[in-house]
Amino acid sequence: MTDAAVPVTQSAVENFAEQYLRSIGCDIDKQGNQWTVTAPNEVDNELLTESVTLVCGDNVDDEAAEELHPESPFFQTLLSEASDRAPTGKLSLEADNADAQLPDWLQESDLEVSSAKFTPYYDRTALVVLFRARVETVSEYQTELLQAVAIDTRSESFLPTLEQAFLQRVSSDTELKSSDSMDMQAADVRPLLDTASGQVVDRIQRTIDEIHQEASRAADAEVEEFRQMQQQRIGELEEQLSNLSARIADLSDQINSSDESKRVEALKERKTLKNEHEDIQAELDDLRQRRDQGFPKRQREIRERHALDVQVEPLTITEVEYERGDLEIVLTTDEHTLEFTAGYGTGVGITETVNCSKCGRAFTDTNPVEDIAGGLICLDCSPQE
Ligand SMILES: [Zn+2]
Repeated sequence: MTDAAVPVTQSAVENFAEQYLRSIGCDIDKQGNQWTVTAPNEVDNELLTESVTLVCGDNVDDEAAEELHPESPFFQTLLSEASDRAPTGKLSLEADNADAQLPDWLQESDLEVSSAKFTPYYDRTALVVLFRARVETVSEYQTELLQAVAIDTRSESFLPTLEQAFLQRVSSDTELKSSDSMDMQAADVRPLLDTASGQVVDRIQRTIDEIHQEASRAADAEVEEFRQMQQQRIGELEEQLSNLSARIADLSDQINSSDESKRVEALKERKTLKNEHEDIQAELDDLRQRRDQGFPKRQREIRERHALDVQVEPLTITEVEYERGDLEIVLTTDEHTLEFTAGYGTGVGITETVNCSKCGRAFTDTNPVEDIAGGLICLDCSPQE
């Protein structure tokens, strides 16, 4: 899982529900964990007719109220509705409304950032899509994630800082006000949505693989259990056959050695037993044949039940206008001052990787910039105290 994914927790559920309901024009009156949601007149949906009382959590005394938690029917309906509608919005990120967003490798550093000045050069547009990703099998529910993908509409590069800002919006109360309707045309949005949804699958691939392996193991165990049961049945049938054969042989002896009246009876009984023998033999032959082929029909049925279904659906689509340019950063220590410039976008942060001037590796949150004597030096390359 990347940083831009959150499990569907209670707080994510509450924040998403609130934003979604407000985005379709509902009014929410919160009293503790109880929300009274009033739908606007023009809203036509299954979820809300006039007003509904939601209770956050699953401890509901009021029978008329709806529960709001990750598995509640209300929330699941809300998600399906959101993915049907995928409400769109537009949001502008301008340079002057926030301090520069510094990357983790600078924030985690002990160095002082004495100034960070942004010079915008041009406007860009990004599309931020909040997806619901579900990985499940027919037999059991597996996992559900909210995943944000932010993509620059021109370069199609992904913008992780913007993604995180959007997820924070879902998993906390941080406000990122969106308003207005999108300028982009549906025909332009579609291919970007496809790229973004492919990206979601790539990012959750490891989760998919893990669940897939788990499901395969469960299927293997079930196939093996079935095979053992059938093997036991084969053993039982073989024993029945050998008992019948013995009794038939006894009867044949009787027929040869007894008088007329007993002979007729023995012949009758032997006929019945021979029929029974034939039936059991047929069942046994069939079972052995299916065993030798590996019980293909049953295997197929079991494997289908454990097959994975991966669904990725957009919940909300937001067009984000942002500015790109350069960020001039000045770092200082007691002895040195170092100035450097990196590509930057409002809301998207530094748009290029910056490398250690000694080892050439990109800075990360775990290997931040540590020293500025003769260039930007990473923690690993700095002399240890
Ligand atoms: Zn280094």
